[in-house]
Amino acid sequence: SENMGSMGPAAEKPHAVCLPYPAQGHITPMLNVAKLLHARGFDVTFVNTEYNHARLVRSRGLAAVAGLPGFRFATIPDGLPPSDDDDVTQDIPALCKSTTETCLGPFRSLLARLNDPAAGHPPVTCVVSDVVMGFSMEAANELGLTYVQLWTASAISYLGYRHYRLLIGRGIVPLKDAEQLTNGYLDTPVEDVPGLRSMRLRDFPSFIRTTDPDEYIVHYVLRETERTAGASAVILNSFADLEGEAVDAMEALGLAKVYTLGPLPLLAREEPPTPRSAINLSLWKEQEECLQWLEGREPGSVVYVNFGSITVMTSAQMVEFAWGLAQSRKQFLWIVRRDLVRGDAAVLPEEFLAETVGRGLMASWCPQQEVLDHPAVGAFLTHSGWNSALESLCGGVPVISWPFFADQQTNCRYQCNEWGVGMEINNNVRRDAVAGLITEIMEGKKGKGMRKRAAEWKESAVKAAMPGGSSHRNFDGLVRDVLLPKN
Ligand code: UDP
Repeated sequence: SENMGSMGPAAEKPHAVCLPYPAQGHITPMLNVAKLLHARGFDVTFVNTEYNHARLVRSRGLAAVAGLPGFRFATIPDGLPPSDDDDVTQDIPALCKSTTETCLGPFRSLLARLNDPAAGHPPVTCVVSDVVMGFSMEAANELGLTYVQLWTASAISYLGYRHYRLLIGRGIVPLKDAEQLTNGYLDTPVEDVPGLRSMRLRDFPSFIRTTDPDEYIVHYVLRETERTAGASAVILNSFADLEGEAVDAMEALGLAKVYTLGPLPLLAREEPPTPRSAINLSLWKEQEECLQWLEGREPGSVVYVNFGSITVMTSAQMVEFAWGLAQSRKQFLWIVRRDLVRGDAAVLPEEFLAETVGRGLMASWCPQQEVLDHPAVGAFLTHSGWNSALESLCGGVPVISWPFFADQQTNCRYQCNEWGVGMEINNNVRRDAVAGLITEIMEGKKGKGMRKRAAEWKESAVKAAMPGGSSHRNFDGLVRDVLLPKN
């Protein structure tokens, strides 16, 4: 085409190296970005950690990481010591520290290997890195590569992290003592937070709830999010109607242009599917029987329960959720990850299992977007991880939110207070509250209103990702203005 011609007859394809943070909620959106680039004619190298690569090969087979012409997988070590369990969610703070401190060297060597003329593919032209893999900026700069970052969470949570500075500057944190965690201090309204609405201290990403002024993770997220200013562009898995105000506030913090490409699962979806569509980096094997079980159930009759890939809870909390589900008398699909319960394997009371027989299905991992798209699902009991939050909007499903940590707190606040699609459940979860909220969301007036709002968000999400929509246009702009090599 004219466009490709402008690169000259001898010009090779652009080659993007995609570097996600090695957790499920980061790998999936990066994979969608990688697929979009590949569909647009880029050569793609997708970088997994050795740990996750081995998990993928075990759970999905070698074919999962075999790649396609012009789409290959590569690995680097994550820097953590070997663990005795090779199929669990890793310790996130430890992984943040180890990737930051150890991955630059291996990543630099990988780029050198990819650039070897004998490698049989075009040299690397750009790096798309997770914001929290920001060490990669140095390696990209050394080679003069275009460098773009992907923030896999919400724009509001990015602001929440960046504004830790503001909280520290105003003396609101660090906490004076541990009592402030429970004495109502977290409910303090925080006024004048650029880009954010009606915030209380508890709505900021949870790492800030510390008495330690030197808390590693606080300084880590500040450094990583502030470093984003050095990227040529920032990609967000969000869309203009949902988070436009927060996106503007991000740019006002001195970032280069921010491109909302969300919801990425919609933008990257291919109809009809291509071999690329089949590439799936789910770290657990999905149990398809979940979808079969939903078949034939009344529309909006099932509560879907899933707390994502990282959340852990105590067995006492698990038991409260169980009895809450039982008391609600609703049908439910409950995904209990092998390592969901702290310490031990999850064990539920016999009486609960007996009482809910035929009415509930429990499984260990499911194809979540397909579940949320199923008409039988009426509500989602979630931890409000960002991917889950977007996926619930795409399915038009309202949520009951039990935020666990990090940005989930901020997402929950907006789901409940701004977007009109959620109700929060107290961290100190009680069975009566679970049952009450389920009844309200499935049958109540409030639930009806939230379902209507969710359906409206679904419509605007679909529009954003369609030709002519904001996310669709943004992708064209990103490729044209930032990612294609300049002459
Ligand atoms: N997921 C899934 N099946 C499950 C549980 C989770 O496919 O049984 C996917 C989910 O669709 C989402 C991701 O895992 O894309 C979880 O990311 P999120 O940001 O919601 O939460 P995190 O796991 O990072 O806390």
